[in-house]
Amino acid sequence: MNAKERVMCVLQGQKPDRMPCFGANSTVTYSQMEKVKAFWPQGHEEGEAMARQALAAYSIMGFDAVRVPFDQTFEARALGCKIKSGGTEGIPGIEHPPPYKLDDTPHFPSDFLSRGVIPELLKAVGILKKEVGNEAVVVAGIIGPFTIAGSLLDTVPLLKATFKAPDKIRPFLEVTTKAASALGRALVEAGADIISCEDMTASPELIAPKTYRDLELEYQTRVFESISVPSILHICGNVDAIVEWMGKTGAKVLSLEPKADPELARQKCGPEIVLMGGVDTATTLFMKDAETVKRACEESIAKGIQILAPGCAVAPGTPPENLLAMVEVASRH
Ligand SMILES: [Zn+2]
Repeated sequence: MNAKERVMCVLQGQKPDRMPCFGANSTVTYSQMEKVKAFWPQGHEEGEAMARQALAAYSIMGFDAVRVPFDQTFEARALGCKIKSGGTEGIPGIEHPPPYKLDDTPHFPSDFLSRGVIPELLKAVGILKKEVGNEAVVVAGIIGPFTIAGSLLDTVPLLKATFKAPDKIRPFLEVTTKAASALGRALVEAGADIISCEDMTASPELIAPKTYRDLELEYQTRVFESISVPSILHICGNVDAIVEWMGKTGAKVLSLEPKADPELARQKCGPEIVLMGGVDTATTLFMKDAETVKRACEESIAKGIQILAPGCAVAPGTPPENLLAMVEVASRH
């Protein structure tokens, strides 16, 4: 089996030759950038550099997928957020002040897909499809409606509104659902095999579980309904309190951090859902050695993880041997 067949086999509920290993989030590191001679900030802004950096996951690390982009600002920027550069070492972030206040009426621009850096992201996906599309999976990332709304309003006002005025958030979620869906569809058209949706702000570490159920579940579901390829849903932190609902969004794969319990996810979401995860990106992958990484991966696999992955976005300073250790563990299963 090649990498793509291996991943597709798992998504179809069958047994692959070995366990696949790739990231639902960014897996690019400084050492990979050095090897492919493509650096930040170009990798965030220029399609060719972005594709070259993403290819390293497959060509250098031996992961089964390549994944773009490496930051979470694409939809927010196209909807009017100002962006601060992360320079040569970091990822771009959202600049203050946010474009909207809670009482404003948000607007979805008709030229959304040609705004900001979206055209470069689409170009990167096209290049990746051409380069490795028959051998490895092309994963393209979008951001969940609730998290984009947090960029439009700023996270603190959004979180306050979840208990003071939840209905005022809905017009924003309508616009951000349109944005995530439009980007997801365009990425599929450009060549993405899988859409990975990161929804950091929907984590139970930031909002009450019932807020997720009442405010975000239907919007996430609408995003996944609009996308014709399999989707991954990634929510950071311990998602045990909402994992049952995550399983109802229509996402084929749930990407879990090791803080979350894969056995509970299986029990709540049933046999069809595919579970992805494996090792904590901060406390283990970045800080510890390859042996510790391997042990963490084995523990996650024993709990029912089917696609081995970093639990969240990989810190760019992560040692390459720790990522290679993950692929080694996957090859034993
Ligand atoms: Zn995360």
